Amino acid sequence: PEAITVQELAKRMGERGADLVKALFKMGTPVTITETIDQDTAELLITEFGHRINRVSESDVDIQAETDVDAEDTLKVRPPVVTIMGHVDHGKTSLLDAIRGASVVSGEAGGITQHMGAYQVSLPDKSKVTFLDTPGHEAFTEMRARGANVTDIVVLVVAADDGLKPQTIEAINHTKAAGVPMIVAINKIDKPDAKPQKVREELLQHEIIVEDMGGDVQDVEVSALKKTNLDKLLEAITLQAEILELKANPDRAAEGAVVEAKLDKGRGPLATVLIQRGTLRVGDVIVVGAASGKVRAMIDDHGRQVKEAGPSFPVEVLGLGAVPSAGDQLTVVENEARAREVAAYRQGVLDKKRTTSAPVSLENMFADRA
Ligand code: GDP
Ligand code: MG
Repeated sequence: PEAITVQELAKRMGERGADLVKALFKMGTPVTITETIDQDTAELLITEFGHRINRVSESDVDIQAETDVDAEDTLKVRPPVVTIMGHVDHGKTSLLDAIRGASVVSGEAGGITQHMGAYQVSLPDKSKVTFLDTPGHEAFTEMRARGANVTDIVVLVVAADDGLKPQTIEAINHTKAAGVPMIVAINKIDKPDAKPQKVREELLQHEIIVEDMGGDVQDVEVSALKKTNLDKLLEAITLQAEILELKANPDRAAEGAVVEAKLDKGRGPLATVLIQRGTLRVGDVIVVGAASGKVRAMIDDHGRQVKEAGPSFPVEVLGLGAVPSAGDQLTVVENEARAREVAAYRQGVLDKKRTTSAPVSLENMFADRA
C-alpha cells in the first residue's frame, strides 16, 4: 500500500539516487528518480544495499534505514563472523572441529558438550572469532537472500590433493556475490600427493589471486588432521578482521539473525541467534521472524547459561512461542502486546509470500505485486 519516491528512499538510506535507479533497472524495474516504488520493492532495495529494514508493524511502515544507523562514537570492535565453505570431503567439518578442539581449555567441564550452529573461539591475545557451522552453501545463500548478511569472512577450504571442484567454484561465486572477503585454507597438506601450488594456480582461473601469486587473498596451508598451521589460519582471520574494522554498538536493544532453530521436547522452541548489534538480555521481549516471546534463558556454545549476549556472540535462546527459520531477524520490542502485533504482522507477510508461485525470481516477485 505504501509507496515512496526513489529520491526519498535514497535520502533515508544515505545512498545516491542514481545508484538506486541503476539497481532497480537491474532488478527489472526501470523507474526514474522522481517515480514511486511500492513498499516491497523498497524493502528489496534496502536489503540489496546491505541496509537493514526496520519495519516494525503495518501501522509503522517507516523505513528507518537512515535513523537506524548507530553513531560512530557508540561503536566498539566486535569479533569477526566466519563461514567455512568448500567442496564436500575437503575437510570443512574437520577444520571446524580442529579449531574448536584446539581452543577448548583442557579440563573444561565436559569439553565440547553443546552442538550449536555457531561457536566462538578465544585466541591467545584474548580476541575472539565466531564460526558459523552452516550445513552448506544453501544455508549461506538462503540467509543472504533473506537479508541476513551475517558472514564477515569466508574461509574457502580446498583439499591440496584434490584441487578445485564444482562446490569450490560454487563457494567462490557465492562469496563474490556476497562481496565478502575470502581466505583460502589449502587443507590436507599432510598427504603425500598434496599439491598446494596447483591449487593456487587453479584459483587464478577464477580471479582469486593469493598473496604468493602477487594478489591480496591470504592463503594458508593447513592440515586439519594433523592440526598443522591452525594458528596461522586464525592469524589470517584476525588480520582480515582488522582490515574490515568490524564494529557494532553493544549498548542498545539487540538485533540478531537466526542461524538455526528447532523444537526441543522438553524446552520448547530453541533458536541459535547470532547477535549483530546491541546486547540481548534474559527478560527481553523479542520478535524473531513471525515468532514472539520473552527470553527465558540463553545458553552459550559451551552449554553454559548466560545472562547477556553482545555483538557477534552466538547464543541459544529459550522462550519463543514458535520455531523461527534460519535467516529470521531478531528484534527486541518494548512489551509483549507489541511483540504479538509485530509477529502477527510478519505472519501476514509470510502468508502472502507463501501464496506466490514457487520459483521466486526478482522479476516474478514484482509481477505478482503489480
Ligand atoms: P567436509 O565434507 O568438507 O566437512 O570434510 P570432512 O571434514 O568430513 O573430511 C572429509 C575426509 O577428509 C575425512 O575422512 C577426514 O578425516 C579427511 N580429512 C580432513 N582433513 C584432513 C587433513 O588435513 N588431512 C587428511 N589426510 N585428511 C583429512
Ligand atoms: Mg562436513
